[in-house]
Amino acid sequence: MPINVLEFLDRPGRRLPVHAVLDGSHVEVDGVRTIGEIQLDGEAFAQLSTLYLDVDISANIVQPCRRCLASIEIPFKLRESFTFPIPPQAETIDVRPHVIELVLSSHDPNVLCRPDCRGLCPICGEDLNWHPDHRHAAGDDGRRKLGEFFESWSTK
Ligand SMILES: [Zn+2]
Ligand SMILES: [Zn+2]
Repeated sequence: MPINVLEFLDRPGRRLPVHAVLDGSHVEVDGVRTIGEIQLDGEAFAQLSTLYLDVDISANIVQPCRRCLASIEIPFKLRESFTFPIPPQAETIDVRPHVIELVLSSHDPNVLCRPDCRGLCPICGEDLNWHPDHRHAAGDDGRRKLGEFFESWSTK
């Protein structure tokens, strides 16, 4: 939803409340992330062809666990100030791309579904949270060493 700037331009310098809901987004940057609806709550004012926006941003982000890749939903909240140039004759400003960019660059990309997530079997990809006793038959030492290496790495 673009922000209508006319009411702000009519009263330069006057802070007015802003409540907006932006559509979410589906992005693939090192793993799939889905951002739900983004709520903006705060204030804005216009001065000298610039819109000053000061808002609480909240959204839910669905992203994969760093170890087992299960989808986790994480609430995102951030207070942020933006400035947008208001082009001559503009009636609205689309703040959504900037807000999405900010959410993507500020959220934590390394989340775990739970602190003791066991991750995936490094050999076959089995989810070790569901199959904690999962083992591969001995006899393939090379692969097992690689497995142990990944196991120690993924529990760091
Ligand atoms: Zn996990
Ligand atoms: Zn396995």
